[in-house]
Amino acid sequence: MTKSPHYDIIIIGAGPIGMACAIEAKNANLSYLIIEKGALVNSLFNYPVFMTFFSTSQKLEIGGVPFVTINPKPNRNEAVEYYRRVAEKFDLRINLFERVIEVKKNKSDIFEVETAKANYTSGNVIVATGFYDVPLLMNVPGEDLPKVTHYYKDPHLYAFQNVLVVGANNSGVDAALETYRKGANVTMVVRSGELGPHVKYWVRPDIENRIKEGAIDAHFHSELLEIRENEVDIKTTEGIKTIPNDFVIAMTGYQPDFSMLRKFGIDLPESLCPVYNEETMETNVKGLYLAGVVCGGLDTHKLFIENSRVHAEMIVGNIVNRDI
Ligand SMILES: Cc1cc2nc3c(=O)[nH]c(=O)nc-3n(C[C@H](O)[C@H](O)[C@H](O)COP(=O)(O)OP(=O)(O)OC[C@H]3O[C@@H](n4cnc5c(N)ncnc54)[C@H](O)[C@@H]3O)c2cc1C
Repeated sequence: MTKSPHYDIIIIGAGPIGMACAIEAKNANLSYLIIEKGALVNSLFNYPVFMTFFSTSQKLEIGGVPFVTINPKPNRNEAVEYYRRVAEKFDLRINLFERVIEVKKNKSDIFEVETAKANYTSGNVIVATGFYDVPLLMNVPGEDLPKVTHYYKDPHLYAFQNVLVVGANNSGVDAALETYRKGANVTMVVRSGELGPHVKYWVRPDIENRIKEGAIDAHFHSELLEIRENEVDIKTTEGIKTIPNDFVIAMTGYQPDFSMLRKFGIDLPESLCPVYNEETMETNVKGLYLAGVVCGGLDTHKLFIENSRVHAEMIVGNIVNRDI
């Protein structure tokens, strides 16, 4: 039997934070491998094509590499390009399109990492898997119809169509404005009484004015009840309305893959906020670390690139000091 390749650290996920961990590992002369189930920075790759970050480019930087843009807030395409150039600069060891399925310790206290393609062993594992792969479902009839998406990509698809946008945080507001500007007839359904508190400050007046002038028909304190082939039922403050519909863009948020975390042995209390040491990022399993936005559990607004890139230094520092 051939021996599985062994590393000091295996990093699951080639998002910005997984990459930051790899750079720290490389700088500390530790052997490492990033294993990523999709493309490099797969979450960013799947963002809407015209999306602009709420962060300035400096706050998205990793590995001390300047992120040079003309505009203070970079867009999705610039960010994807930046992280690819960073991966090239550091010649990061990354296996793409390889999903990690299982992480467990063997009798010698070494991690065995099983992927869809191979097996590896490692002294430490960093889980940097983000939250973008599991959408929060609305659980309404018709949600599984092909016209419903939880991943809005390009407004052109919706030109001259009846579009229902569910949610009024950044993703919902961006989708409503972009599709409206490509000629869609846009209705928004918002559970709360107002736009989300984190809506980008330069976008807020735009959406407020489109709603005020009636260009976008927004229903607050409302919810989607049922989706059918050509119409939807929505419960509004004026009663239940049935409106014509071609597409539903459900911007209802995302959550980390909790079943994967549980399978790896990470403690998840009722709050679903994973348990880890806030100074070292180590979980209840010795040598198994969490990094990046996955640490926030259901509170996906708590952590972002700017305030979680520091996890890389904390984790690698802990591994180096522990192993001395
Ligand atoms: C529309 C949108 C806009 C955002 N704007 C900003 C912003 O302006 N500023 C900001 O800081 N943050 C923003 N965020 C949050 C942002 O997504 C995160 O801050 C950033 O992506 C976190 O990086 P990460 O490396 O922790 O996770 P991710 O970038 O999500 O990376 C996780 C990686 O793990 C991979 N993965 C998952 N499971 C497995 C597995 N089993 N095996 C192998 N690989 C796996 C995924 O494919 C993915 O590539 C935004 C998020 C969204 C959805």
